[in-house]
Amino acid sequence: MSEAEWLKFAEKQMDRFRRHVDLRGPIPSHNQALGCCHKWLRGVDKDGYGKFTVIVPWTSKGVCVRAHRVAFLVSGKTIPKGCLVLHKCDNESCVRVSHLYAGTQKQNRRDAIRRGNVPRGEAHHAASVTGEVVDFIRRDRAAGDDQRTVASRYGVTRSHVYLIETRRTWKHRP
Ligand SMILES: [Zn+2]
Repeated sequence: MSEAEWLKFAEKQMDRFRRHVDLRGPIPSHNQALGCCHKWLRGVDKDGYGKFTVIVPWTSKGVCVRAHRVAFLVSGKTIPKGCLVLHKCDNESCVRVSHLYAGTQKQNRRDAIRRGNVPRGEAHHAASVTGEVVDFIRRDRAAGDDQRTVASRYGVTRSHVYLIETRRTWKHRP
């Protein structure tokens, strides 16, 4: 199911979404001006991002999506191609829209290093990426974007793109 499709349903399910949010989460110590985080109280994925199940009405089945991404998109903001929804607060479970921004993986790492907080689960060298970025790299390559463009979009080397797309690395990710 495409993002545009689940987003239509998510918009109608935000009452349920809001019931899973603590509006008095922690205040980020590196930037108290942000105010408190809106902490996701339900399940999180292995990277610490909140998971929200968007119910598809005619099947009663759910599509599992990242909660901060839902909050960002439902607020009417758009995510440019090659960008992720990033946290100014470094709190992966936060869904407060004013704490979120769209940016590249490269920008994410640079910002995190500037804040003195390299995201959890990532090694410290520049070639490391998250599973989400691996998916984006494979998707963009399958869509025909060239290696050089994809490499610069996600802040990795061309050889790293090659290793990811040929599944010589991250081979266990479907
Ligand atoms: Zn936050």
